[in-house]
Amino acid sequence: MITLKRPEELALMREAGRRLAEVLAVLAAAVRPGITTADLDRVANREIRRRESFPGFLGYDGFPKHLCVSVQEEVVHGIPGRRPLRDGDLVSLDCGLIYKGWWADAGLTVACGDVDAEGQRLIQVTREALRVGIEEARPGRRLGDIGAAVQRHVEENGFSIVRGYTGHGIGRDMHEDPEVPNFGTPGKGLEIRPGLCLAIEPIVNEGTPATRVQPDQWTVVTADGRRSCYFEHTVAVTAEGPEVLTAVPVAAG
Ligand code: MG
Ligand code: MG
Repeated sequence: MITLKRPEELALMREAGRRLAEVLAVLAAAVRPGITTADLDRVANREIRRRESFPGFLGYDGFPKHLCVSVQEEVVHGIPGRRPLRDGDLVSLDCGLIYKGWWADAGLTVACGDVDAEGQRLIQVTREALRVGIEEARPGRRLGDIGAAVQRHVEENGFSIVRGYTGHGIGRDMHEDPEVPNFGTPGKGLEIRPGLCLAIEPIVNEGTPATRVQPDQWTVVTADGRRSCYFEHTVAVTAEGPEVLTAVPVAAG
């Protein structure tokens, strides 16, 4: 079932999104060689709660932490732990929170220290893929337009789209209908209408798109051991076009 948000509901989602953007800005600034992923998790919990919000990932489908941290060949759903970050790592941070009953879900990949040129290009292309996907989230387009735009940008640049994990509707729950795949056919799929709120999240591999899940039942890694990268925003569709709810405020960015 797809729900379109009313203006007063969108106002609360905007508040949730702004808080999450601030949390992610603090997290991104904390990424440096030597810090552990568990340290980042503690920062996430503290920064979320200090903004009158709840760390919605905690206990979601049994997830044990407040943040997903996926390093290098880890794709998504990495569980924070004792792993120290190393110079040159690609570090994907995926975070969500609930504010007054409404979700925001967003994330980014951060370069830890000096990342090689190809790793920086992977980050850049994935960030751009999110941007071109968001551009399609406007009335009159269809979900396939989002997926097609993301896919085209990634594949033109020689990287691959992970197929098994998608974006999603978002609102009272983190994962609402519809699914938002990062691939597709222009002009196909659900028509995009004002009030639709979507988490758009391209997940891009340096090598082949195949993935597997680690024995911890959460951490997804690339099958070929090469690196992966990810960016996500919560986006509201308005009559004028997409409104990014989780954009980092200029002052905090
Ligand atoms: Mg997320
Ligand atoms: Mg998401």
